[in-house]
Amino acid sequence: MESEIRRLEQTARLLEPDSLQRNDLFEQASDWAETFLAGLPASPAYSPAPEQRKFSNDLRPAEEGTGMDALLKILNRDLIETGINPASGRFLGYIPGGGLYPSALGDYLAAITNRYAGVYYASPGAARMENELVRWMAEVAGYPEGAVGSLASGGSIANLTGIVAARDAAGVTGEKISKSVVYLTEHAHHCIDKALRIAGLGGCVLRRVAVDSRCRMDAAALNTAIFEDRRAGLIPWLLVASAGTTNTGAVDPLPDLADIARENGLWFHVDGAYGAFFNLCPPGKAALIGMEESDSIVMDPHKTLFLPYGTGAVLLKDRSALSVSHRMSADYMQDAVVSDEELSPADLSPELTRHFRGLRLWLPLRLFGVGVFRAALSEKILLARYFYEQIRELPSIEVGSYPELSVATYRFLPERGDPDEFNQRLIGEIVKDGRIFLSSTRLNGKFTLRLAVGCFRTHLDDINETIEILVRTAKRLQEEI
Ligand SMILES: *Cc1c(COP(=O)(O)O)cnc(C)c1O
Repeated sequence: MESEIRRLEQTARLLEPDSLQRNDLFEQASDWAETFLAGLPASPAYSPAPEQRKFSNDLRPAEEGTGMDALLKILNRDLIETGINPASGRFLGYIPGGGLYPSALGDYLAAITNRYAGVYYASPGAARMENELVRWMAEVAGYPEGAVGSLASGGSIANLTGIVAARDAAGVTGEKISKSVVYLTEHAHHCIDKALRIAGLGGCVLRRVAVDSRCRMDAAALNTAIFEDRRAGLIPWLLVASAGTTNTGAVDPLPDLADIARENGLWFHVDGAYGAFFNLCPPGKAALIGMEESDSIVMDPHKTLFLPYGTGAVLLKDRSALSVSHRMSADYMQDAVVSDEELSPADLSPELTRHFRGLRLWLPLRLFGVGVFRAALSEKILLARYFYEQIRELPSIEVGSYPELSVATYRFLPERGDPDEFNQRLIGEIVKDGRIFLSSTRLNGKFTLRLAVGCFRTHLDDINETIEILVRTAKRLQEEI
């Protein structure tokens, strides 16, 4: 057996490249990243996946190893040259992402050291770092000391975690489910519906509360709905407000909603996956007043802190609420000493072993300083408002409401023909062109275009180019009609 083990060892040792090999691999990856970054300004924000093209077998694992060189070429062909390019400053659709360079280094160091961030005992430093980040985010949200939370993979899981805590705090189980009412608007992110279903709450009553002309929840309508539900023998339970809807960036009237939630004993959950971090900058703060009065809140560092995908966060005001839902133990974990000073991330989320997400967030925050993020976030809001003010002056454009955060909505009104059709064709042409990427939505039944500023690479020149491309393309389409 010994010789067999030795024989296997020789192959197994290939998993540990030596220093020279590591340097070589690193350099190749780093060169590749540099080429990618250098090419970004000129590369398209969107490239269609050619329909006929078949992916080769290169994306499948193979029995034999392949050189790094060849693998990076595969990435160029199959990854970089297709689809949306969220690293581009001219990606202005949906909710843009980011991909801060130091986050990549944070991931690199997290992977190299492979610290176990789930349990305080296993890595006091990693758990402490994540707890400090949570405490900092709680400050950003305006939550008091003692709030808890966890870093999740994204906003959907963060919302699910918040909803599960709300469920357990109110004991929404069994027959109570079909009587419990959730209040939200048609603009709430669909991950809320999904989270309710996953949490076994698909049978709850979903009350879509009316919105005002700016797509914000109508507080009076909410009051009426709660009153009527109670009269009908139902149990008003959960109020889900948006601190920046994905559709239009609208912020629900949070102070009014907080009052109503308090008066009626509702759990007040704020989905700030897109918007909450704008609280770091003055124009955002003005729009987000009242957010701090919620019981739970979601904020996505991979949206408005410009991190690469894979980092969301949920915060809860009441320390006990999260651990009621998630604290568990197991015999094989009996050696792990529970710390009262520092919580273990695993006790606050469904995950046990998890990505050490803290490092990709901590590194850029400490390296640049929070002040740089404040400036960048102010800039993004002002860019959306600048865009709005520029296009509002143009003939044959109808704009939506003034951007509270960094989303502007608008539609062209052609001289002839159906406006819906025209705007749909326009967005098709823009996407096909690929230099900028925009997306659309439906507001009050009308086909509406959006501009969402959120990538840290988006600056004034990109917005000016966007306006130029929009105007030119619209003009060309008008002439074709
Ligand atoms: C993006 C978004 C979500 C979902 O978050 P993911 O990180 O994509 O899972 C939830 N709510 C709002 C308002 C969002 O913009």
